[in-house]
Amino acid sequence: MEIPSELRQLLHFPQNVAIFSHRNPDGDAIGSSLAMRHYLEQYGHTVHVLFPSEYPEEFEFLPASGEILIWDIHTEECKHVLDKKNMFIFLDFNALNRIDKMGDYVKNLPGKRILIDHHLYPEPMADFEFSETSASSTCELVYRFITGMGDGQKINPTVGACLYTGIVTDTGSFKHATNSTVFRIAADLVERGVDDTAVQDRIFNSQKVKNLRLLGHCLVNRMEYLPEYRTAFIWLTRKDYEDFDIQRGDTEGIVNYLLTIREVKLAAFIHNQPTIVKLSLRSKGDLDVQAICRAHFNGGGHRNAAGAYSHEGLKATIQKFKDMLPQYKAELLK
Ligand code: 5GP
Ligand code: MN
Repeated sequence: MEIPSELRQLLHFPQNVAIFSHRNPDGDAIGSSLAMRHYLEQYGHTVHVLFPSEYPEEFEFLPASGEILIWDIHTEECKHVLDKKNMFIFLDFNALNRIDKMGDYVKNLPGKRILIDHHLYPEPMADFEFSETSASSTCELVYRFITGMGDGQKINPTVGACLYTGIVTDTGSFKHATNSTVFRIAADLVERGVDDTAVQDRIFNSQKVKNLRLLGHCLVNRMEYLPEYRTAFIWLTRKDYEDFDIQRGDTEGIVNYLLTIREVKLAAFIHNQPTIVKLSLRSKGDLDVQAICRAHFNGGGHRNAAGAYSHEGLKATIQKFKDMLPQYKAELLK
């Protein structure tokens, strides 16, 4: 990756840096943010990581995850920290509304802005933009940023474990969005001391008994299959949230089970969160769920994994989802 000399020079002097990632942070959001923090600190920069909302428990093993500031919880502290910053780094998102109210706050602060991301259609929001939609993950791009700086030797086991986390989660353990570069990067991370088995163990073998019971409930009682559209979806009500004591991150990955049905091309998970209805869409092949989320639900993401929010209630949102399927029938049956 080519790093502009202006940015190189800036990074060679201590800066006061804020790193941001998106609401409902996933492995790539938290992995890229913490990797960047642990990298920049080796230059003597002062770095804080800020997220709009909490991250799932399985990522608590990543060094310094406990120091991440959550806007929803530590709003005043976030503002206080942000007021002193002169550099803002946006990782794994490309529109300021993805960091909610924190975006409104940051918009008005002076400082250089850097964006590193792999989602489609970036908003113009940074002085230095590294946006590659063909990248497997933001972690892949952060790896290439660090090596582009000539700093491969700064990828120690801590930085490496963070980077590996984002790569392994965003590729579904190297099942999709892979490319030859990402396998080379993974190999290099292992050579630099990352215990890949241990990282995968921490992330994926971290379920609680209630998570498996919830999964059973989803598959037996909450799954609908529409063979005429090669579509399956799962929905959850607010009562399900109470009955199964669903906390942040507990529903992560459930949508992927639908894709394991051979005929299914489109999978959706539609669930009633406290104030909104959240949709997670996944697809196989050329079917572009990013375009569907964008066109019908004001969301976005990637071709095969995208999400959105709705304020119309669970029933209405499910109906809207079903009603738009005929428009895509040709693509779904291709
Ligand atoms: P998930 O369904 O796992 O929440 O998200 C899948 C992908 O879509 C992720 O890359 C995520 O960043 C993106 N995404 C999820 N929700 C939204 C949304 O409301 N708006 C946009 N633009 N992207 C989203
Ligand atoms: Mn990502």
